[in-house]
Amino acid sequence: DGIMSKRRIAIFGATGSIGVSTLDVIGQLGGRDAFEVTALTGNANVEALARQAVASGAEIAVTADESRYGALKEALAGTGVDAAAGPSGLMEAAERENDMVMAAIVGTAGLKPALAAAARGADIALANKECLVSAGPLFLDAVKRGGGTMIPVDSEHSAVFQVFEEHQRQALERVIITASGGPFRNKSLEEMRHVDAATARAHPNWSMGLKISIDSASMFNKALEMLEAMHLFALKPEQVEVVIHPQSIIHSMVGYADGSVLAQLGVPDMRTAIGYALAYPKRQPLAVDRLDFARLARLDFEAPDETRFPALRLARLAMERGGLQGAVLNAAKEIALEAFIEGRCGFLEMAEVAEAVMEALSGLPEAAGIEDVYTADAEARRLAAERLRR
Ligand code: NAD
Ligand code: MG
Repeated sequence: DGIMSKRRIAIFGATGSIGVSTLDVIGQLGGRDAFEVTALTGNANVEALARQAVASGAEIAVTADESRYGALKEALAGTGVDAAAGPSGLMEAAERENDMVMAAIVGTAGLKPALAAAARGADIALANKECLVSAGPLFLDAVKRGGGTMIPVDSEHSAVFQVFEEHQRQALERVIITASGGPFRNKSLEEMRHVDAATARAHPNWSMGLKISIDSASMFNKALEMLEAMHLFALKPEQVEVVIHPQSIIHSMVGYADGSVLAQLGVPDMRTAIGYALAYPKRQPLAVDRLDFARLARLDFEAPDETRFPALRLARLAMERGGLQGAVLNAAKEIALEAFIEGRCGFLEMAEVAEAVMEALSGLPEAAGIEDVYTADAEARRLAAERLRR
């Protein structure tokens, strides 16, 4: 119609892999003619954050790391971009007039600001899957009450979202999440026992942040995605399937009662899912590589192996138990992952820690409110850390 109002967008986790791609996509979708960047947030890397804020014309840049406030302020001196820091700074970014928020902080640290933005009515482009894993029903409820729309950015969930026929829900049979299998798809348990973070972070198909790359190697990423899908699409645990698809061309599928399976395909490039979310409900042109089927020649599939990748079994357990088990699984995993990165925890030990903590906290009642999630999260972290010290 010609007179398009600009969309006001905040990017939480702007300095990360998804954040950088989001700024690239904003540029492709019209840049400052189409978007007004309200707030960008980052963590320790304030120089990069300041550069992004100036380049995108952001109103405010926020570092989550309070000790970096001075450095951020200095980097922004004379630019006209405001600086803020810490939890209150993140809340300031969340509570601006945002039409949309890209939630791309890594880990449970992203939950509070995303919840605040959702409650305020912003559309949520959700990369931070941990929001749904830890607090699925509460988070979805906040989006609903705020009146915004949630558009998944995780490639698998974007795929499902793109082919999910809500009007056919009564005929929905299953959601099939594809998994590349990561760098250790063909490794034995014995071979995986001694791998280090440098080896585990080398993903065959996707270029991503450090933590999600290692989670892909252990398949904890797929475990989180199973819980994410269950919440996002209101599925029963048994409706969530996982299939290994090493080429990462089919990003996920939906199966209906007539035997039809709908899939979304594309090259493995997160900008497709990000662009879909930012342009929603339209599709807009993106300069990503196109699929060349003759060159691809084939697509392979195999069953996932829950013995070599126990994270998948733990996800199933958490889905069946329900309640706070997702929050517990994720928090314990985050502690084990940090320890693995620092060389204090073995690769296979991560799942052992998560399972032990899930067992110890299996009796927690359903969350009545978000405080219950934070309590369960903190308790799971404490138990995981304690176990790792032994
Ligand atoms: P990343 O590590 O590259 O970036 C993380 C961002 O969060 C950075 O901006 C960092 O400064 C910020 N951050 C880190 N710790 C923080 C804290 N304690 N408080 C506030 N901010 C903090 O991560 P990423 O790969 O971009 O992933 C971001 C999220 O998107 C994750 O939840 C991940 O699972 C999800 N995701 C990523 C991809 C991908 O391709 N990278 C794909 C699907 C989903
Ligand atoms: Mg994914």
